[in-house]
Amino acid sequence: MTRSEMYAYFYSGEVALKLAVSRELYVQFGNVLLQQPDVLTQLTNVKANERALQRQMGAMTMGLTCTQCASRQGGGCCSSFMAGENDVLQLLMNLLAGVQVQVQVQQDEQQECCFLGMTGCILTMKPMFCLNYNCSYIKDKEVATTLLLLEQRTAALLVSQAGLEGLLLDFFCENL
Ligand code: SF4
Ligand code: SF4
Repeated sequence: MTRSEMYAYFYSGEVALKLAVSRELYVQFGNVLLQQPDVLTQLTNVKANERALQRQMGAMTMGLTCTQCASRQGGGCCSSFMAGENDVLQLLMNLLAGVQVQVQVQQDEQQECCFLGMTGCILTMKPMFCLNYNCSYIKDKEVATTLLLLEQRTAALLVSQAGLEGLLLDFFCENL
């Protein structure tokens, strides 16, 4: 498979197809990938950065803000459109991190992201678009220094996710 064919394989198509491909790759290569020291190290970095971001979000009570927002008519922002931002490698990274990646039961399948669970997003590694989105409900109630901390934690997570994605791309270039 050429690099451009691989990019099309990983980054295009419906989310259900991308999830199916990520599962196939996990079954076929998961054990091998989880024995690679560089992959394991980067996976540890991603998890640590995700925990740091969660702590920051917790300190800002973002869970409560989003729960209240989502309970309003037309509220929430985890839409079925956003679900499409998930690509094969990012879903595979979640599987490698031990996340049970599966489509959630939704009240409205046409509107809501299929990875939105009862207590929020089920994914440890989320698309860049999701991680970078901070709406006015969040921005308006925080001071600039707090928002800067949130951005820094988000950036650290995104950089480590990109590092892991790069390792997976290199691996699949040689093995697909
Ligand atoms: S990020 Fe903003 S729009 Fe999305 S659920 Fe939270 S409060 Fe609502
Ligand atoms: S944060 Fe998670 S549940 Fe929300 S849109 Fe992104 S992937 Fe879907």
